[in-house]
Amino acid sequence: MAFTCRQCGSCCMYLGDYIVIEKQTGPFSFECSSVSTGTPFSAEIDPDKRHLFSDRSWIDAHPTACRFLRPDGGLIRCTIHRDSPPQCKFYRCVVMRVFDKSGRQVGTVTGTLALHSDDPDLRTEYDEAMRSIRDSDPDAEERLQDFFERRGYRTG
Ligand code: SF4
Ligand code: SF4
Repeated sequence: MAFTCRQCGSCCMYLGDYIVIEKQTGPFSFECSSVSTGTPFSAEIDPDKRHLFSDRSWIDAHPTACRFLRPDGGLIRCTIHRDSPPQCKFYRCVVMRVFDKSGRQVGTVTGTLALHSDDPDLRTEYDEAMRSIRDSDPDAEERLQDFFERRGYRTG
């Protein structure tokens, strides 16, 4: 399923303790670490976002956010898009929306196939589906989608 990031910034708002600047090595370059994976990485602010990065008013007011996040008009953007760590590049917050028979959205599924839902029936179905689907399967998303649709849900 195609995923397009809307650059809303939500997924980066609480990553300030996880993407850490260890040392500034130049006006726009940094040695960093990704705490969750224990991986060091070097990052340079994207040339077209340096004016955004230099304005600290928003980031100073949002202490939990990743230090590289900045507003840009209606968007909240990563200013190291080129050099961001792999888990940031590959993150997909929603790969599937799940609707019940009346058309009401009852859940979403992330790129790691985690279900976000308060609906107990959908959660029961999901748990059953995931007993036979490994999230490392190349066709795992399609299999989960098929499962939901066979149980009367609509996905999109
Ligand atoms: S991955 Fe999702 S939550 Fe994160 S910025 Fe993109 S649309 Fe927003
Ligand atoms: S490096 Fe970029 S994508 Fe990753 S958490 Fe920070 S702002 Fe978000």
